[in-house]
Amino acid sequence: MTRQNILVTGGAGFIGSHYVRTLLGPDGPGDVRVTVLDKLTYAGNPANLDPVRGRPEFSFVQGDVCDPRTVGELVAEHDQIVHFAAESHVDRSIAGAGAFVHTNVLGTQVLLDAMLRQHGTDGTFVHISTDEVYGSLDVGSWPETDPLRPNSPYAASKASGDLLALAHHRTHGMDIRVTRCANNYGPHQFPEKVIPLFLTRLLDGRKVPLYGDGENIRDWLHLDDHIQAIELVRTRGRAGEIYNIGGGTELSNKELTDRLLTVCGYGWDRVEYVEDRKGHDRRYSVDCSKITAELGYRPRKPFETGLLETYAWYRDNRAWWEPLT
Ligand code: NAD
Repeated sequence: MTRQNILVTGGAGFIGSHYVRTLLGPDGPGDVRVTVLDKLTYAGNPANLDPVRGRPEFSFVQGDVCDPRTVGELVAEHDQIVHFAAESHVDRSIAGAGAFVHTNVLGTQVLLDAMLRQHGTDGTFVHISTDEVYGSLDVGSWPETDPLRPNSPYAASKASGDLLALAHHRTHGMDIRVTRCANNYGPHQFPEKVIPLFLTRLLDGRKVPLYGDGENIRDWLHLDDHIQAIELVRTRGRAGEIYNIGGGTELSNKELTDRLLTVCGYGWDRVEYVEDRKGHDRRYSVDCSKITAELGYRPRKPFETGLLETYAWYRDNRAWWEPLT
C-alpha cells in the first residue's frame, strides 16, 4: 500500500489535534505521513500534539494558511488536505469579523489554489465546515441540499469557504469533500466555548453565564464520533459531495447547563443569566441520513459517557487550561 501524505491545517486546535492523534494512534490507518500547518493563534496549543511529537511520520510547521509560499511548498509534498484551520468562535466574530474573513475565506482559497496548481484533479481536499452555515430552524433537520442562510459573521465566513471549495469541484473537477458538523465537545477545547467554559468555571467554584432564556438548542457531537466521520469521508466519500455529521443529542442550553451542574455537584444558584448573544441562532439540527446510508456513520459515544469523560479530563488537566482562563 502506498503511504498517504496528509496535510492537516489547524492541527494544533481542538478538533484538528484530536484528528492527528487518532490518525497516528493505534486505531489509525497506519500508512500515513501527517504534517500539521498551524499559525498557533490563541486557539492553537502545541501541547495538544505532544503525544505525536518526535514520531517520524509527523511534522509540524508554524505558518499561516493565507501565506501562498508556505502553503505552496507544503501542498507540493501532500496530495491530501484536511482543512480545519479557522477562526472558530462566534462571539469573537461579532466583536470583529476581519480575522474570520481572512483565515476562513482567503485561507481556504490559498489552499484550493495550491491544490489545483500542484495536483489538479488527483488530490483530495476535505473541507471541514459547520452546521451553522444553514442558519437556524425551529422544527425538522437540514438535509445537505438546503440553502445556506448563515447568520453570524463566523457562519458567513465558513459558508463562503465551503462554497468556494465546492465551486472548485464544479469548475475544475477537483476532488473536494465538504463536511458540515454539529457542535463538538471533548478534551482540549479552548475554555471560551460553552462546555469547557462552564466546566472550568465550576471546577473553580465560580458562577456560569447562561445566554438569554437558555432555550437555544444544539446537537452535541463527541470528538471521537466526529473523527470517525471525517475518516469515512476522507477514505470513502465522493468528490463534490457534502456530508452532514450530527451527534444525535439535541439539548437546550438550559438542559446542557443542568447536566454540567450535576456532573460538577452544583445547583442552579451557580447560574447567572446574561444578555443574549446578538443574532443568537435558536436551533441547529442536521439530517445525517446521507452519511449513515452511504458510509455507515453512526455516533457511538453516549452523551452521558462523553460528558463524564470530558469533565474528568478538565478536572485532571488544570495545567492545560489554567493559563488560558
Ligand atoms: P479551534 O479554534 O480550536 O482551532 C483552530 C486552529 O486553527 C488553531 O490551532 C489555530 O491556531 C489554527 N489557525 C487559525 N487561523 C489560522 C491560520 N490563518 N493559519 C493556520 N492556522 C490557523 O477550532 P476547532 O474547534 O478545532 O474547529 C476546527 C474546525 O472545525 C474549524 O474549521 C471550525 O469552523 C469547524 N467546526 C468546529 C465546531 C466545534 O464545535 N468546535 C463545529 C463545527 C465546525
